[in-house]
Amino acid sequence: MKFAQVIVDVSAYPVDRPFDYVITTEWEELIDIGCRVKVPFGPRNVLGFVVGISEQSDVPVEKMKAVAQVLDIESILTPEMLELAKWLKHQTICYEIDALQVMLPGALRANYEKYALLQGEVTQLVPQLQPYFDKTTKVNITQLEKADLLKPLKRAVNDGIVVIENEVKQKGQIKQVRKVQIAAIEQLEIVQQQIGKRSAKQLALIEWMKPYAGAILMPNVICETVNVSTAVLKGVIEKGAANYFQEEVYRDPYKKEIVHTDFLQLTDEQHEALTKIKQAMDDVRQETFLLHGVTGSGKTEIYLQAIQRAIADGKEAIVLVPEISLTPQMTERFKSRFGDEVAVMHSGLSVGEKYDEWRKVQQGKVKVVVGARSAIFAPFKNLGLIILDEEHESTYKQEDSPRYHARDVAIWRGNYYNCPVILGSATPALESFARAKKGVYTLLTLQNRAKKQALPTVHIVDMREQLQAGNRSMFSEPLTEALRERLERGEQTVLFLNRRGYSSFILCRDCGTSVQCPNCDISLTYHRYQEKLKCHYCGHEEYIPQTCPECQSENIRYFGTGTQKVEEEIFKLFPQAQVLRMDVDTTKQKGSHEKMLDAFGRGEADILLGTQMIAKGLDFPNITLVGVLSADTSLHLPDYRAAEKTFQLMTQVSGRAGRHEKPGEVFIQTYTPEHYAIELSKEQLYTPFYEQEMQVRHMAGYPPYYFLALVQVSHEDVVMAAEYAGRVAEYLRSNLSFQVSVIGPTTASIARLQNRYRYQCLIKYKVEPNLIPTLLQLIKLYRSEWIKKGIVLTVDLDPQMI
Ligand code: ADP
Ligand code: ZN
Ligand code: ZN
Repeated sequence: MKFAQVIVDVSAYPVDRPFDYVITTEWEELIDIGCRVKVPFGPRNVLGFVVGISEQSDVPVEKMKAVAQVLDIESILTPEMLELAKWLKHQTICYEIDALQVMLPGALRANYEKYALLQGEVTQLVPQLQPYFDKTTKVNITQLEKADLLKPLKRAVNDGIVVIENEVKQKGQIKQVRKVQIAAIEQLEIVQQQIGKRSAKQLALIEWMKPYAGAILMPNVICETVNVSTAVLKGVIEKGAANYFQEEVYRDPYKKEIVHTDFLQLTDEQHEALTKIKQAMDDVRQETFLLHGVTGSGKTEIYLQAIQRAIADGKEAIVLVPEISLTPQMTERFKSRFGDEVAVMHSGLSVGEKYDEWRKVQQGKVKVVVGARSAIFAPFKNLGLIILDEEHESTYKQEDSPRYHARDVAIWRGNYYNCPVILGSATPALESFARAKKGVYTLLTLQNRAKKQALPTVHIVDMREQLQAGNRSMFSEPLTEALRERLERGEQTVLFLNRRGYSSFILCRDCGTSVQCPNCDISLTYHRYQEKLKCHYCGHEEYIPQTCPECQSENIRYFGTGTQKVEEEIFKLFPQAQVLRMDVDTTKQKGSHEKMLDAFGRGEADILLGTQMIAKGLDFPNITLVGVLSADTSLHLPDYRAAEKTFQLMTQVSGRAGRHEKPGEVFIQTYTPEHYAIELSKEQLYTPFYEQEMQVRHMAGYPPYYFLALVQVSHEDVVMAAEYAGRVAEYLRSNLSFQVSVIGPTTASIARLQNRYRYQCLIKYKVEPNLIPTLLQLIKLYRSEWIKKGIVLTVDLDPQMI
């Protein structure tokens, strides 16, 4: 007898280990390690993943339940993934099921339909099955399940008469398309002779087919081109002039016509960097490179040539970009070099499209994946290179379970395949640069822009002086002048608002309160065109109140400098200017971001106005002016990384100007021009910034000098939340050594979210061997007792925001 070890999809279960199930003979041949199964758990059947198969079990057979159903014919989890899941579980303290699920496209987690596809003849099936397949080759399995026909179906599967296919019920799914493969030329001639003079149409068709011998064509195209009916085509196919051919057609989410680009002759700096990367590839050795290059230094060209090398070695590459739907230009550069070898994976795709891209990778139909965070799990089996572009971006950290950082997973997979990992950035994360300085990563530096263009001239405008001079507008004198010049010369400008562009809110002028979300401790955001207030955390929406909910005053108005307001201001200053406003409101539709960028690239607007989202990857020759309207907004966030993030943002946006022939100019407006994050971004002086910021971190006891861990507790009842947060703090203090500081419990930065009160304890430590065991004990306590009381406890071993 055989047993399957199954990780079940049951969250919040106190123990996290595989359960043993009997494999009945019915499923014996179908089941494999890495397959999904349905297994009984408690009163119902749940989804599970087979992580092992054995001949023995410690559990007595009579107490054991049996696998109810095997869901996959081929394993969907490779041995690598099973190993990676175990590592993720320990690394991030999560349930193993979460670690397994995160590697799969959503479509394979739940929402799919299973079909039985007939491969042979209906008459080969047992009589009970025949009626189902009589008129169609594809039957939904649920139908057969209801009729208790799974066993005969299984036999048909084993005999190869039927195959099982998962299908995602979404648009964009893989379609089975029936095509026609034309026979070889000799065969065509034989068929032609057979036909003799009986059918002129058939003869004409065969004559037409000859130049296409061996080709796979669409039947309707053939009929239309030759102007014959399908019956004629069918006639010659029956005589052996062609075969029907089932082909999987993927929907391509990236339909745009791409022009192929060739290799660029590398600069000396680029060449030196690439040589080191290739050396690691030659040696088949894991090495992590931190590629630190100023904006426009040609990091992407290095990625492209390194990937080319991986492909030439018969291997595959993963390229991670922070938010791919926001960087169409970046995707295009990979597509234009590697064409159809590239799959694209990002959150903007439908479930079906994501599944398609995943399948392409799994079936080895592509060599390169370009995608956002989760693409790090692309199911390649022979990786030769992993790249994280803009490696400092916080989007690489997942904020739900499993709370992993894509950088860590990249290095894990790099070790698994003995392949290099490239972390690229103009402004590396402090942790990464510190590791490079220590020699943990190999530092590669590009100091010059690839086309020898000078870095843009950056002016810092002191807005306090503007105010004193009586200018209350959000446009300073110098920026207005520069903008006027650009409009006169027909050059383009990018205006950047350092915040989420829509964050205006309603404020009462009498009592000073803003309208809050009823479920969260957050001001609601004013959406002008819909005349609505929305919560960006829980999705709550309401109409704008006529009076203040607190004091009933009618004196309420909207505040905040959203992009819409800037747009109005520009209109007042330069009514003739064409403005493209890019924010969450104008880019809601799929692909609209890309369309707007294309329009801007074609010169259809003078000014591109937007938030962070336009800072990335923008590369147009006619942009000669960049304006940052308020550099300070990100400096004052309650975040120990505020200075670092501001420096990164300023450097990024400045890098958008003057990337080609025409020189660029940048104006940064600020009320704190003396702040080092702003001053040093002027000339992209990363190293001095690094040194200064490291001192600040050292004194305040933050990473990279100290490690952080965050334990959050939430409950619908504020007293319960506070009480259990207190227990957490006590537990941590009594179990961790004295060198560890436990701060809290304090209320979380958002004290209430989706109607749950949130408290947290922050742990700061340098070395603490007891940390993980203590946290595991705490989690055990939580999973076995607290959970029943409605507490939710989460642990983040690498919190990005605290
Ligand atoms: P980064 O990724 O470092 O910001 P890019 O790779 O986007 O820089 O390069 C900036 C510009 O320089 C792009 O237009 C790119 O095509 C060009 N470029 C890069 N490398 C070279 C090179 N070796 N020779 C000429 N142009 C180059
Ligand atoms: Zn009021
Ligand atoms: Zn809310």
